[in-house]
Amino acid sequence: QAGLASFDSQIAAAIAEEVARQEAHVELIASENYASRAVMEAQGTQLTNKYAEGYPGKRYYGGCEHVDVVEKLAIERACDLFGADYANVQPHSGAQANAAAFMALVKPGDTVLGMSLAHGGHLTHGAAPNFSGKHYHAVQYGLNAETGEIDYEEVERLARSHKPKLIIAGFSAYSRVVDWRRFRSIADEVGAWLMVDMAHVAGLVAAGLYPSPIAHAHVVTTTTHKTLRGPRGGLILSAHGDSELYKKLNGAVFPGQQGGPLMHVIAAKAVAFKEAMSQTFVQYQQRVIDNARSMAKVFLDRGYDVVSGGTDDHLFLVSLIRQGVTGKDADAALGRSHITVNKNAVPNDPQSPFVTSGLRIGTPAVTSRGFDADDCEALAGWICDILDVLAEQGNTDAVEAEVREKVAELCLRHPVYGAASAAAQE
Ligand code: PLP
Repeated sequence: QAGLASFDSQIAAAIAEEVARQEAHVELIASENYASRAVMEAQGTQLTNKYAEGYPGKRYYGGCEHVDVVEKLAIERACDLFGADYANVQPHSGAQANAAAFMALVKPGDTVLGMSLAHGGHLTHGAAPNFSGKHYHAVQYGLNAETGEIDYEEVERLARSHKPKLIIAGFSAYSRVVDWRRFRSIADEVGAWLMVDMAHVAGLVAAGLYPSPIAHAHVVTTTTHKTLRGPRGGLILSAHGDSELYKKLNGAVFPGQQGGPLMHVIAAKAVAFKEAMSQTFVQYQQRVIDNARSMAKVFLDRGYDVVSGGTDDHLFLVSLIRQGVTGKDADAALGRSHITVNKNAVPNDPQSPFVTSGLRIGTPAVTSRGFDADDCEALAGWICDILDVLAEQGNTDAVEAEVREKVAELCLRHPVYGAASAAAQE
């Protein structure tokens, strides 16, 4: 059989270009990371060929004896890593893990309370265009405009007046520690389930560097590809000790939301969970936090507003409202400088969600490729150099060219996948 390059040169070329882009550009999107070679190796195996509807020991297909070993190991490791007594490793993505959790916990039309997209929640936490906003009566909480932190009093007020059946905590863009215990006591007061979506901080939680929601939430969902650094995918966990709930969750994933599990991805998840148990993973997560703090400090020192004044995790939000710069323009100028970030709404944002007045900056990926605090400080300085020119409404061509050169040098010093991939750039 022909290999990829000879059979399909168009796809092979696009993949090679993407590998080169990943090597030559600085990746500051907070939800991205670089999976290890072991994770990618597991994912690129013949396990992709296998149908295994059902669960280990109870499949609808024959020939599942080896994939059963894989899925059992993935479940055991997920439970060990997070101190859970239930894990479902089958969700194809974070959004599908959340859809399954909703399906197990509430009925269409029920009231759910989650953080709004504009304030840092995820689409699946009740946003209007998503299943969670279309099929449920979604009420949304947000941040306190002054502190930039979650407005727990608003959560309490909304919970008391709307009596949701489900409260969702967790975020896509929040730089502080969430008080999971407080969320649980609000849920208990109104008789709601508490679901925590820890997708962004799962790696920090696994390393013990961010408070674990496991003991507080009835159900925890996550992706496996952000700070956790596994393959793209979803995961559902619980330590609630409720076998009826676990049965409902399993039924909601399969046959509720999905057909056959992606066994090659489940194998890669198992590898990632094993990696996350090591001391080097803990050290990595500590560097992720240290690097985020170093970068946030540069922005503050250079006169930029950081939402909530800093960060306790892997990301922070820069508000450009005072400078009158849009997130869209900043994102584009940085992109031309080979620095990838994403525009993000900030509290009191006067701009539309497509334009915004903020940037979300995260350090999981750059830390994986070995950037230290000095590298991150330098990088934050270059970003400020570009933002300064944008704020003066100047032409950014010259500063972008300067930063592009510095970025190229920095990336060459820290290849993502080693020398072989670095050579692919040339
Ligand atoms: N939950 C949160 C908090 C997220 O930030 C994301 C993705 O960014 C998701 C869920 C969805 O994950 P996926 O893109 O795998 O569906």
